[in-house]
Amino acid sequence: MQHMVEQALCSVPAGERAQVSAAVRRFLRKTFRARTCFGFSAFAPLKLMHKWIARWLLVPYDLLFRALHLNESVASSMRESGLDPTSDVAGKLLYFWADLGSTAADMPMSTFINQIKRFENFRLYYPRGGGEVMGRALGSAFEAAGGKLLLKSRVERLLISRSLNGDFSIDGVVVKGKSILCPLVISSSGVSTTFLRMMRPEDAQAIAACDSDFAEIYDGLREGIESGKSARPVSPPMGSSPTSEPTSPGTARPKPISARGKQSVPQPVRQLSLSRTWCFLFVGLDGPDEDYDFIAKHEWIFPSWDHQANVEAHLAGGIDSEFPAVFITSPSAKDGRCSANGAHPAWQRGACVMLLAITEWSHWQRFVSLKDDDTLKHEYAAIKKSLEKRLLRTLYSRFPLTEGHVKYTSMSTPLAMNTYLGTTQGEVNGLAVSCKRFSMRMQMLLRPKTPVKGLYLSGHDISHQGLHGALMSSIYTIFACSPRSMLSILPMVFLDWMPGGSALVALAALAIALLAVVLSLLSSEHS
Ligand SMILES: Cc1cc2nc3c(=O)[nH]c(=O)nc-3n(C[C@H](O)[C@H](O)[C@H](O)COP(=O)(O)OP(=O)(O)OC[C@H]3O[C@@H](n4cnc5c(N)ncnc54)[C@H](O)[C@@H]3O)c2cc1C
Repeated sequence: MQHMVEQALCSVPAGERAQVSAAVRRFLRKTFRARTCFGFSAFAPLKLMHKWIARWLLVPYDLLFRALHLNESVASSMRESGLDPTSDVAGKLLYFWADLGSTAADMPMSTFINQIKRFENFRLYYPRGGGEVMGRALGSAFEAAGGKLLLKSRVERLLISRSLNGDFSIDGVVVKGKSILCPLVISSSGVSTTFLRMMRPEDAQAIAACDSDFAEIYDGLREGIESGKSARPVSPPMGSSPTSEPTSPGTARPKPISARGKQSVPQPVRQLSLSRTWCFLFVGLDGPDEDYDFIAKHEWIFPSWDHQANVEAHLAGGIDSEFPAVFITSPSAKDGRCSANGAHPAWQRGACVMLLAITEWSHWQRFVSLKDDDTLKHEYAAIKKSLEKRLLRTLYSRFPLTEGHVKYTSMSTPLAMNTYLGTTQGEVNGLAVSCKRFSMRMQMLLRPKTPVKGLYLSGHDISHQGLHGALMSSIYTIFACSPRSMLSILPMVFLDWMPGGSALVALAALAIALLAVVLSLLSSEHS
């Protein structure tokens, strides 16, 4: 904690330091107190237990989460501690906001705490060979177990039928116009893609008419998509009025004008919006890492420490305005094999670097119909070129030795995300991190089991952002599809956890998990 306080306070004038330091300590004490008893696995019972048990659990959970301030936004928690969320100190404490795409006004304390835990434990890894090695390893294991992988085979539609007693069940999927019939479908393409794009609207509406929980998610997603098309509203802290976003005396600055030309007023969030989108520039260089001083680390560059103001300025200013955050990292330096003395000849060819810039879908929306419009195509190409130049300038200013050594560039926009990841608004992280999404009730509703018998969800949307969230969701999904098979993998899961924590904690967790399995087997929800 001492280290974090020192880092955050380094630019505070001496006269104000004692007061700001006390506020930072109050905020961090709250955070660190909660982190000892909270991890995202705390949501597991809400997602895995039968809904009637989970609904009862909401009451004690809500009390506990209120006591630990986990349900409130980071901005509101900071203000309560006497810290101005728009100040430089607050901006430094939230240095990693762009990893998740939500600023202090949107980010719940539960997510902030989880992120602090990750950095505190230095649990950041890079898979040698890049992200694709994970996909290849999973694919090989799947095929070795008898599975068949169909690549470039987008699911166009889910085949859903309704029985005479009114129950919905999955019959299969439609791929390239052909029906593949199967009694079990697990979709990890995201909650929004599954419910809004793979399901026929008439099926989704029929399910929503019978199941109010599904209707809540379905309507929330539709509202979220609409809000992303124009301007992204800022959620107020939980429990406060929408217009109560105050600024501390002495720190107020004129708020940027919103995209609609009015003073931007935070709106209440009722929707499940999609996360922010990025532009990517991949750069290949002609020398090894040491020629450019690349090291294995991440770096974010911001126009100012007021992240919310930066986001709003970019929203109002359009594509050409300053990005609210630019990320620079060198995959080759993290891999560690691209060096002049590297053992592997393939890795002696040259270093590479990635630049990621946060942008807003509303700036890209009009390029969706690019194919049929030559003028739009030219405009899009020109924008890509100018973005590439801007990001290269950022690279040269941060790593001057790279200038004159760029051999290859590849610029991607949010439209590329839609093409390659099947996203809707170029969202990088699925559903946006928001107080609405991480409320107790929504965590209970975002579960693997759906109202359609045989249709299950997996992936980060039903858990939390990132690979960790995606992996955790796979355990949830196995549990929901087959609690019995979960029994066989439980010992492995706990043996894996034991070295990191105490045996007592692992045994207690094992007992709770076993109880959950037994309760689920007894309940009628799992079939
Ligand atoms: C550039 C980038 C960098 C990232 N860096 C990190 C990082 O450093 N650390 C970290 O923890 N996380 C990182 N993430 C986030 C991480 O990749 C995701 O959280 C994680 O991959 C989510 O896994 P998932 O299985 O839920 O979804 P995804 O990995 O997105 O998988 C969903 C799959 O569904 C497919 N799909 C979509 N629609 C259809 C359809 N109609 N039919 C069939 N298939 C479909 C998509 O093609 C995709 O393969 C990064 C993400 C991006 C985009």
